Order: sequence, then C-alpha cells, then structure tokens
Amino acid sequence: MISEVPFSEPWITEEDKRAVLEALESRWLTGGNRAVEFENTFADYIGTDCAVSVNSCTAALHLAMRILDIGPGDEVIVPVLTFAATANAPIFCGARPVLVDVDEKKFTISVEDLTKHITQKTKAVIVVHYAGQSADMEEILEVAEDNNLHVVEDCAHSLGSSYQGRMTGSLGEIGCFSFYATKNITTAEGGMLVTNSRVLADRARLLREHAMTKSAIEREKTGSWRYDVVDVGYNYRLNEIQAALGISQLKRMNEANQRRIEAAHYYSDRLKDEKGIRIPLEAGGRSHVFHLYVIRVIEEESGVSRDELFDYLIRSGVGLSVHYTPLHLLTYYRRMFERCAPHFEVAERLYKQIMSLPMFPTITRTQQDYVVDKILSGRSSCRNPAVG
Ligand SMILES: *Cc1c(COP(=O)(O)O)cnc(C)c1O
Repeated sequence: MISEVPFSEPWITEEDKRAVLEALESRWLTGGNRAVEFENTFADYIGTDCAVSVNSCTAALHLAMRILDIGPGDEVIVPVLTFAATANAPIFCGARPVLVDVDEKKFTISVEDLTKHITQKTKAVIVVHYAGQSADMEEILEVAEDNNLHVVEDCAHSLGSSYQGRMTGSLGEIGCFSFYATKNITTAEGGMLVTNSRVLADRARLLREHAMTKSAIEREKTGSWRYDVVDVGYNYRLNEIQAALGISQLKRMNEANQRRIEAAHYYSDRLKDEKGIRIPLEAGGRSHVFHLYVIRVIEEESGVSRDELFDYLIRSGVGLSVHYTPLHLLTYYRRMFERCAPHFEVAERLYKQIMSLPMFPTITRTQQDYVVDKILSGRSSCRNPAVG
C-alpha cells in the first residue's frame, strides 16, 4: 500500500556519486576541466557551437540580457505564465519586461499577443518551452526577424526536446538551461547558456567570472599574477562538483526523458476519457519531454474545482504544484504594472484549472495508479450533487 507520492524526486545513481567523490578529491574544486568537459558535451548534444556553464538558469538568463546589451529604456517580451526568473532577467539590467498571454492549448507564448505588444523599444523576446514542449518557434522567429528582435529561449523545462528536428536551445540566438533539483537533469543547482556566436559566448564567460581577464587556473599556469577587470561581472561559475554530476547525469539524459515520456503516456491513457479532466496536448512537429505533466480540471464538466481536487489530493498524500501563478497576479509585478492593470484572458483561465501531477524518471506505475485513483475518487467525492 502506498500512502504518498512525492511531486518530484531526483534520480541519482552510484555512478553519479562516484563522479562527485572524484571531483572532491581533485585539486581544482572550481574553475577546472570538468566544467569545460560538461560544456563541450552539452554543446554537442544541443547542436550549438558554444556552451557556457553557470550556477543557475537565472544566471544564464541574466547573462543573456547583458551580452545582448539590453538595458534601461529597452523592453523585453516574456510570457505571463512562467517562473519569475524569466521576467527578472531584463529587470536586473534596468529594462522592462512586457508580459503577454499564452496559447490556450500549448501554454506557450501566444504569437498573436506577442505581435501586438511589439513597440519601438522592444529589443528581445524570451520564449519559454512550457512543461518541456517547444513554443511555436517558426512563427516566433519570423516575427522576430521582421521586427529586429533577439530571441532567447528559456529551456529550463525542455532539455532534450526538439522542434522540427532541432533541439530547443539551438533555435534562437541564445538558449538558457536549468539543472535545478527537479529539472530533467540536475546538478542540485546549475545552468547553461548555449549559442552559436563565439563573440556572445566569450562575453558570457568574461561576465561569469567578475569580468576578469585571467582566471585563477590561467594565472597559475602562466605564473603571472597580473589581471584586469574590464566590466562589471558576477560570480556565476558552476563548480567542479556540480559539473561532475552534470557530466554523469547528461549520459543518462535520454533515458531519463524516455522514462518521463512513458510515465506521461501512462497518465494520459488513464485520464484521457475522464469527464472534466484535460490531458496535455502533444503538438505537431515537436517532441515533449514532460518536465511537467499538467492537467486541466474543467469544473463545469467534472463538478469539482481545481482547488477542491487539489486539496483532496494533498490530503491523500499526492505531491502537486501549480505552474504558474501568472506573473501579473504576484505582488512585485502587480505593483510594477499597476498603472496599466493588465489582464490576460487565457492565462487567468488556465490558472484556475491547471495542476501539475507527480512526474520524475523513477516514478512507478503503482505510484501513478495511486495518483489517478485519487483523482477519480476525489472527483466523485467532492462533486456537488446539484451539479453532478
Ligand atoms: C527553473 C526555472 C528557471 C530558473 O532556473 P534556476 O536554475 O532555478 O535559476 C527559469 N525559468 C523557468 C521556466 C524555470 O522553470
């Protein structure tokens, strides 16, 4: 008998542990060869010329804005249904995020609403490949080209997913990945910036390490203490312990994604004909790697609201989440956009209906059956007799 199913669980093997221990025993705990090896393998995998490892996706997004010279007076378009870090990246640089609505079926940025929000000040758009499925990149790249916009991909959910045969992260000018504990591969905390531009990658590397012209390892090699600081930089390095875990995890990435996909299809098979429950759409021309498995609860059909079902499931020991509270409803952004009081019809509707079910590579069919059984029993036991 199961009594609970976690929302997420990292998949750590003996090989991962050995790799981490080896890194701990090596001389360079940070700024060494493991980070470089991780970058090279990662770039090969995504199909970009360059990869720059960083200590979070938030750092990668920030560096993306910096190396594209986004600053005060600029506007950067972001979808309203995303994690705060997506919108914060332009704010860090003194630019203004401009929120736009999402597509009702895919939950990715609405190309129509994106087009409406372009002004003279718009410099870039950050697209989010929500839940692990690419946004409508062909249309987005076309709009961006017509309007001279940079395209940054927030790939925090989408490592290993492709669009028209190309990996997400290699479609725009810059791709940003997360290796946070719940993401498709993890280094506990960590991230990667990928690009085909050597110039952009070199700038990102410089800003990653205080904009110092020589790293500690280079200073030791050359025996010279001389260095310069040429810009205002950060400490955004991924350390060697994290990189060792990343190299080891990357080897299993396809298998980890395959397990997520199979688990997603199992949920979908069991839920697809259930009244008032909508399973995630797998759109054409792209692959979904199911960082998240997000269902919609349609109260008018199921007789139970998302909140009622959510509470019932939590009480039954099922780990759940909601991705996301639309940004304009959160205090900081509400204040920021106070004067225009924006509304986003689709995102606001989705927000009341969505919930993310437990999803991780090692989830068992028994755990999934428990989740689905609780959804079905919750639906009937919470149902208002007058409606049902
Ligand atoms: C997780 C996440 C981030 C931030 O990643 P960190 O590595 O935790 O900084 C950014 N955007 C989205 C969409 C995310 O899910």
